[in-house]
Formats: sequence, structure tokens, C-alpha cells
Amino acid sequence: MKTIGLLGGMSWESTTLYYEFLNRGVRERLGGLHSAKILLHSVDFAEIEHCQVSGQWQKAGDLLGAAASGLQNSGADMVLICTNLMHKVAAQIESHISVPLLHIADAAGQEIARQGLKKVGLLGAIYTMEEDFYRQRLLEKYGVEVVIPARKERELVQRVIFEELCRGEFRDESKAAYLSIIEELEEQGAEGVILGCTEIPLLVKPEDTTLPLFNTATLHAAYALEESFVASCAAA
Ligand code: GLU
Repeated sequence: MKTIGLLGGMSWESTTLYYEFLNRGVRERLGGLHSAKILLHSVDFAEIEHCQVSGQWQKAGDLLGAAASGLQNSGADMVLICTNLMHKVAAQIESHISVPLLHIADAAGQEIARQGLKKVGLLGAIYTMEEDFYRQRLLEKYGVEVVIPARKERELVQRVIFEELCRGEFRDESKAAYLSIIEELEEQGAEGVILGCTEIPLLVKPEDTTLPLFNTATLHAAYALEESFVASCAAA
């Protein structure tokens, strides 16, 4: 079993999803007292969010790159950035390490392709929805077209993420607003919806809608779990 390096704390509310999924996954596979080999570097999210709003992406990438390098030096065989948005600087982070960086859009793209969907909605931080770094990867690598909410709804999604979900607040009215945005995405032809912010699955659950939802936190963790067992049977 390989060691999984997590860049977490963005926010810690969602990093707990990774920690739990990985440990449960290893227990299911190996049984007994087995648990996942995890190294976690959990940042102070306020510092990262400050970089985002002040446009200091280079600084955020350097900070996370140094943290990724620390994970590798401590024995991580792979690194995961436990947020969709900070994949905006994935290439910069990747340049600090020689072990694989498992991209969260690949985790989503592989599952969307497996389900045979061609057009999906995307909910996430405003940059994730509006910019190319996420949508382009889905289109180029998996042939998946992405539709996003209108500007006013994008702002609502962003506000709920940073003012509520990342602070551990889960409100019924925000859930209702997200569900009506999901309906609008379906009207635009979405066959499923990517929960492209790792906190959204804490608010919106599969049973809340008939559309398939892609939980990027657990799909990302599942991707790492698979990789942690590749060609390492003897070491289990
Ligand atoms: N966790 C969120 C995401 O998956 C947003 C937090 C952030 O990294 O700014 O995009």
C-alpha cells in the first residue's frame, strides 16, 4: 500500500471527507485493523483565501508547492490537492515534486466517462466555473461539455461556499437555492452535475435530486485509493 499525500485544509470541512473515505476504503479492502497511509499538510485556509481574493495566485502556488515537496520528502508516493479551485495552480505545484499529482478533474472526468455522459453542469467556486483550467481539461481529455449557471447564480454559489460551507454552516435555504440551480442546469441539457467544490457534497446529497451528482471529494479520494494499491501487493 502506497502513502497518500494530502494538501488539505481548503477547507478542513472537506478534508475530513478524504480522511474518512480513504481509511474506510482500506478497511474494506484489507479488513482487520488496516487503515490508509496518509500524510496530511493542512494549511491555514485564511492565508490561501487571501491570496485568491488579492489575485496572488503565484504566491499561493509557491506555498502549496513547498507543502507538496514536504509531503514528498516525508514519504508521500502521490499528492492530492484537496480542493478543485486550487488546481488553478496545479502545474506550479506539480513543478515542485517528482511523484504524481492526481488531478481532481481527472477523478471527475473518469467517472463521467464511465457513466457515458457527454454534457454536465458544474457548481464550484466562481473561478472554477468561469475559467478554463477545469472545464478545458474535461473537454479535451474526456470529451465532456460543461454548462454553468448564469452570473447571478454563480455569485450565489460562490458566496455560499465561502461564507457558509467553508465555515461549517449548512443552511436549508442555501440547499434549496442550489437545488433550483441544479434544475436550471438540467434545463440547459446537463445530464449530471459536478459538485466541483469539495464542500458542496456536505450540503447537497444524491437523494436530493434525480440527476447524477459527481462528488469530487470522494471521487478524488477513490482515485488515490486505487493508485495506492497499484503494483504494491507485496507491501500491503
Ligand atoms: N474547497 C473548494 C473547492 O473545492 C473551495 C475552497 C478553495 O480552495 O478555495 O474548490
